[in-house]
Amino acid sequence: MRKPLLPLETALAQLLASLEGTRLEAAWVSTMQADGRVLAQAVSSELQVPPQDNSSMDGYAVRLADVGACNGILPVSQRIPAGTNPKELLAGTAARIFTGAPIPFGADAVVMQEDCVELPAANPQDTELRIQVNQLPSIGQWIRRSGEDVTKGEIVLAAGQRLGPAELGMAASIGLAKLSVVRKPRVALFSTGDELVMPGDVEPQAMPAGAIYNSNRFFLNSLLRRLGCDVTDFGIIPDQREATIAALRLASESNDLVLTSGGVSVGEEDHVKPAVQSLGSLDLWQIAIKPGKPFAHGRIGACHFIGLPGNPVSSFVTFLVLVRPFLQRLQGVNQSALPVTLMRADFDWLRPDKRQEFLRVRRNAKGGLDLFPNQSSGVLSSVVWGDGLVDNPAGQSIRLGDQVGFVAFNDLLG
Ligand code: AMP
Ligand code: MG
Repeated sequence: MRKPLLPLETALAQLLASLEGTRLEAAWVSTMQADGRVLAQAVSSELQVPPQDNSSMDGYAVRLADVGACNGILPVSQRIPAGTNPKELLAGTAARIFTGAPIPFGADAVVMQEDCVELPAANPQDTELRIQVNQLPSIGQWIRRSGEDVTKGEIVLAAGQRLGPAELGMAASIGLAKLSVVRKPRVALFSTGDELVMPGDVEPQAMPAGAIYNSNRFFLNSLLRRLGCDVTDFGIIPDQREATIAALRLASESNDLVLTSGGVSVGEEDHVKPAVQSLGSLDLWQIAIKPGKPFAHGRIGACHFIGLPGNPVSSFVTFLVLVRPFLQRLQGVNQSALPVTLMRADFDWLRPDKRQEFLRVRRNAKGGLDLFPNQSSGVLSSVVWGDGLVDNPAGQSIRLGDQVGFVAFNDLLG
């Protein structure tokens, strides 16, 4: 009897468990260069943000009691642009103030300039500027308090956080010019298949019979880089046992992961699986998902091996549901579950597979999901057209209007 295929959940758990005890070293990088990297340690702030109380408006800083006491007419005793250090506010006066400038000691509110008028001088030799405040301010009005964003000692970014635009801005706002990040995983990428031709090597009109362009190499490179990997692309391995063994052995010596596509199925031209078995161990093979059954994981020495199916959509999907969480975990990112949301299916899927399926779908303007008509595992158009996957449990049919689990490509590509 054939061995039952591994459920995705089990395979993922095994894959992640294989990383237990593995930690990539930390390295310092300049904050400016840290986009997409993963923080190796939590970051806490050595100062308050903002550092001082400051104005959130262009206007006048006042003492509330003074405004009431003099019918709102106040002389202007100082001018405080952003970046200056003000004097204490003289009693019975206002200070001209600009957005971001520190609040002078003694002031307890800011009146925006739209709510004040500059008064004409009472007599021509008067140089003193006076304003009429037309609104009785409330206490603290238009004042941004010191520490309202970050308090001193607060942890602002957690270990394992992937740094994007918001996180880099935060790190800079607390004065960090360098960040301790996890070393990039080193990944060796191989394509297998004697039918493969590189774009540029042969013009489309000159393609020999039986040849196809190597598309997996391009999207796998892109997916790996978006996940912060240092990719060495070894190109195409011929469908030969010895060549496959030699290539895998070499790559395993200097990488954390060897990632291949193709050649892990059951045909006698599929040399990757036996090659890994001869060099190390194969711990996991064949998963109950569609597309993507021929997925393999093993070890060659200290290096992990992952073999993806050759069919482009299978390769794409298995990368997203298995390799991505593996690489996230390797980098210390705590995010292994697929980000699934419930959405309405605006289609029927009445002949489900026995395996868990990942259907290529697209969100429509009515708030539902449309299905790409051709769900074949070789049809990359489905991934280009689609903006995500329906995660459909094994054997479950879908009727128009049903709620289904949706995973957006956008949530998986960075
Ligand atoms: P395999 O897993 O090697 O049997 O390949 C399964 C299918 O995927 C075959 O039709 C291959 O031609 C195709 N395939 C394998 N590798 C690639 C690749 N790098 N780019 C595009 N198609 C591929
Ligand atoms: Mg092949």
